[in-house]
Amino acid sequence: MSPRDARPAAKGRISLDMPIQFLKGVGERRADLLKRLNLRTAGDLLYHIPHRYEDASTVTRIVDVSPGMDVVILGRVISKGVLPTRKGLRIFQAVVQDASGMIEVSWPGQPFLDRSIDKGDLLLLSGPCKFYHGRQLQPREYVNLGGEGGAEDADNGAGKVLSVYAVTEGLTVRQLRAIIEQHLDALLGLVDDYIPKDVERPAGLPTLVEALRAVHRPTSVADARRARDRLAFDELFSVHVLHRRANAIARRPRAGHAFEVKGTLTRRLADQLPYTLTGAQKRVIREITADMGSARRMHRLLQGDVGSGKTIVGLFAALLAMENGFQVAVMAPTELLAEQHARSMGALLAPLGIEPVLVLGALGAAERRAADALLRTTDPVLAVGTHALVTEKTTFGRLGLAIIDEQHRFGVEQRAALSAKGEAPDVLLMSATPIPRSLALTMYGDLDVSTLDERPPGRQPVTTAVRPESARDKVMAFVVSQVGQGRQAYIVYPVIEESEKTDLKAATTMHAQLSGEGGALHGLRVALLHGRLPGAERDEIMRRFRAGAIDVLVATTVIEVGIDVPNATVMIVEHPERFGLSQLHQLRGRVGRGAEESFCILLGGVGADAYQRLKLFASTEDGFALARADLRLRGMGDLLGAQQSGTATFRIADPVEDEALNIAAREAASALMDRDPDLAAPDHRPLRDALRQRFPRALELFRVG
Ligand code: ADP
Ligand code: MG
Repeated sequence: MSPRDARPAAKGRISLDMPIQFLKGVGERRADLLKRLNLRTAGDLLYHIPHRYEDASTVTRIVDVSPGMDVVILGRVISKGVLPTRKGLRIFQAVVQDASGMIEVSWPGQPFLDRSIDKGDLLLLSGPCKFYHGRQLQPREYVNLGGEGGAEDADNGAGKVLSVYAVTEGLTVRQLRAIIEQHLDALLGLVDDYIPKDVERPAGLPTLVEALRAVHRPTSVADARRARDRLAFDELFSVHVLHRRANAIARRPRAGHAFEVKGTLTRRLADQLPYTLTGAQKRVIREITADMGSARRMHRLLQGDVGSGKTIVGLFAALLAMENGFQVAVMAPTELLAEQHARSMGALLAPLGIEPVLVLGALGAAERRAADALLRTTDPVLAVGTHALVTEKTTFGRLGLAIIDEQHRFGVEQRAALSAKGEAPDVLLMSATPIPRSLALTMYGDLDVSTLDERPPGRQPVTTAVRPESARDKVMAFVVSQVGQGRQAYIVYPVIEESEKTDLKAATTMHAQLSGEGGALHGLRVALLHGRLPGAERDEIMRRFRAGAIDVLVATTVIEVGIDVPNATVMIVEHPERFGLSQLHQLRGRVGRGAEESFCILLGGVGADAYQRLKLFASTEDGFALARADLRLRGMGDLLGAQQSGTATFRIADPVEDEALNIAAREAASALMDRDPDLAAPDHRPLRDALRQRFPRALELFRVG
């Protein structure tokens, strides 16, 4: 530990909300690493629960391991090294030993492990044993328990339950475990149970303090499981209370605010549309118009596959609110998409004399002040922006409709926060990712659904192919030929930069390689786009791509949602196995938007499992079918997407897996909110305060009162 890390944290000064860097044993450098795990305060550590446990009952003696088994073993490294293979892949190998024998362990493609695993280290390993030069273990996961021996030894380390935490590069499980262990008792002493006593919980769950202790320091895996369930229940319960609250506000009748079709704007938009609406669009616009025309507040999800034309439907709803004198907010998950909406809506609305107001975090102070000033008036403005729209300082003078595009990209609190702005606005959620009914109930509370089940006419199907690494030259030649015909292309990579952690090709390196001297795309106008570029630069690149001044965009998934450039006909995805099916479908949706034939090519060698999945993807353009397959294959994490952006609704619970807990939590939340809808009773205030703290941007839902 460096001297700087050893900041004294006087006893008694520790608090749950103190910045994590002031904890003994953390310091600035580690605090930065912990931030990547979303751990910012001392109290956050309590809720960073192990994603897995290992205990004696799960460890197999090395002598008993045979090919075909999936095992957990505990052994010391007695030799190690990096081997090249014929295919150019480098393999890290180690031989580990316990009291019963030794076994070879192999990590293909991870040569960098040579730096973090040393001779003498004690490893806890789990994974399948393959038949390969005899027996070989190919770990799915490993924990390095270190080399100093000490209490944990290959022979006696088994026997206690080991907590295995999610970590990040630069921080080992062992280090994180030590930090948590060191402060656990002090932190537990500060915990107050905020769940009211009159809330009915499933039987057999421990108290909050017991649960928090047991998840980190369990006496058995079963013990840890019950403890985790208690925390999951609390989390589900909290979200249900929040939904109940949002819905109660949403359903409050709103005398005199029913939107009437006046036609002053909607009619005029309809008259000058450059295309005819599809039957589905007309039907859905009717559904929305009827809903907005009733005194009841609208809370509606508009589902429609990629490219089905949701934006224009949203725009009709916006104009309906505006012709009744109300303001409208359209919230999108990325600045790129918000800017695109502002531009395309602006073009359609220019003849009507309406110019959208853009609200982004990246705006300059003066621009932002000007935008905020407009929103505070009661003029019927159309605000288009990112989550900057829901920050506390944004105030709407007369918000009548909130539209949330690609809504699954937002967390529950951001959605709730936008609908809590202004005078109980109607809410329209838009998404290309369909969600099963039961999950929708958990995520959004109750809501109505409209579905666009028809595509605009004249669309060509997108030809999808899975191509091996050996076809790379041909694929790039194809890009060149498409560009020769005046078309444009995207090439997407899973990461921005190469890293030691993975052997993935990265956008930055591949951009240089492809467009450089002797590169396959040398001579074409190739640009690089990723999320770490400054907003203004990204905007400029997209503008030029849209204008046809760039032929090929080498990008990360910043282009995943919503981007609309009809002249782009080729989408190439490298390392396609790294993406969920719905995500691939979104990427494919970037092409096939014009009249020209379009192509989506998944490039690179993949394992047999991934190949099956990608074949399934290539075989259908039905986004709903792909979403269902995703749910089956990868769980709901992908569908809820928001997890990646750090706005995850659930840290511990899984509403699908935890179905029984979820139902109990929903019932308990309903019962409580029936008794005390404002959580005003003294016994209920700790819960209200906890919710306001956990979902700060939804705080309008529980104003102090
Ligand atoms: P998504 O549902 O994926 O958000 P968009 O709203 O971005 O789809 O629409 C995709 C493209 O289709 C846009 O270029 C839009 O202008 C166009 N579009 C929408 N509706 C129609 C229609 N009825 N006829 C022709 N083109 C349409
Ligand atoms: Mg869209």
